[in-house]
Amino acid sequence: MPATIPFLDLRVSDAATRQRLLAAVERVLLHGRMILGPEVTELEEKMAGFLGRRFALSVGSGSAALFLALRALGLGPGDEVITTSLSWIATANAIAMTGATPVFADIRDDLNIDPDSVARLITPRTRAILPVHYTGKIAPMEALQALAARNDLLLVEDAAQAFGAKQKGRPAGSFGILSCFSMNSMKVFASCGEAGLITTDGDSLHEKLLALRYNGTVNRETCLLPGLNDRMDTLQAAILLERFKDLPELLERRRTIAARYRERLRGVVGLPEESPGCQDAWYTFTVRAERRDALQAFLSQTGIETKIQHPILMPHQPAYRQAPRDRLSNAERLVEHILCLPAHEKMSPDQVDAVAERIVRFYDRESAS
Ligand SMILES: *Cc1c(COP(=O)(O)O)cnc(C)c1O
Repeated sequence: MPATIPFLDLRVSDAATRQRLLAAVERVLLHGRMILGPEVTELEEKMAGFLGRRFALSVGSGSAALFLALRALGLGPGDEVITTSLSWIATANAIAMTGATPVFADIRDDLNIDPDSVARLITPRTRAILPVHYTGKIAPMEALQALAARNDLLLVEDAAQAFGAKQKGRPAGSFGILSCFSMNSMKVFASCGEAGLITTDGDSLHEKLLALRYNGTVNRETCLLPGLNDRMDTLQAAILLERFKDLPELLERRRTIAARYRERLRGVVGLPEESPGCQDAWYTFTVRAERRDALQAFLSQTGIETKIQHPILMPHQPAYRQAPRDRLSNAERLVEHILCLPAHEKMSPDQVDAVAERIVRFYDRESAS
């Protein structure tokens, strides 16, 4: 049975939006500059402006953005990069693929990296901190910036889930020496496939990234250092430019859904909250639930699709069994309770209420028995 309330609905079902995207695709088909075409340049300029950076460089995916950013900083074997323990595995993989060692910090109840844990993990080999703005909530950047400054560490953002989020007026993607986004089709600001972005203010970093993005070459011929091909398709850039116009509305819808869930579910499950002075992107609406697996099964019976992002902590993955880590008492407790509710922008208020009502019913039934 297909879910009656799916976790995501990636179809472009609104006819007017579909027409706009088709027109954008048609323009590219007609000019024929499929790679690094004019839409790519326009997108990069728009993104740099929006995110308050000198440069925004489009790449093929969020994973490529992270990997190229860490490579551009010259990280490699013998270097340690401290990151969170709860994220999509792409975060740790980007570190490991440079040859550097990922070091895993504990998290706080808001599911973001704990700066106290980061402080405990700093060694003479530590070169960088890579926080993730998990669920679309910006990590505690003030504390991390202070740690980075005091210990002479590079700060790189994994802002893959947080396009459009703000902390005290500053956008995600404006904090790191390099900051990385994913615009794959599941993210809030999404292409119709794979896409990523790196922002920076440094001329030499930007130039190095330009080379790294295309086989380590300058002027498409002279190879300065080995690299792969990680350019964004002009077609995806054209789609992103069109969707960028809708971003304020997309963010607002997610925020409204989150507010409605918070009203309906207060006291029922642990709820995500926006900190004062912050605007989260609400990439996921992740609650902390008692008897999480039973609740998920109960919701699934009536066609409500939920997800656990992610059920395995990165340091618990077979690939990272040997990696250094702090004690992960919070992360290990929280990962048993997190549940992402459907919260995509196409959901109606009635659907939000139906999900919430079903969750309330699950716990009523539990306490009755
Ligand atoms: C999606 C995501 C990535 C990877 O982005 P892709 O575009 O899928 O390669 C990296 N980190 C986090 C936190 C993500 O959510």
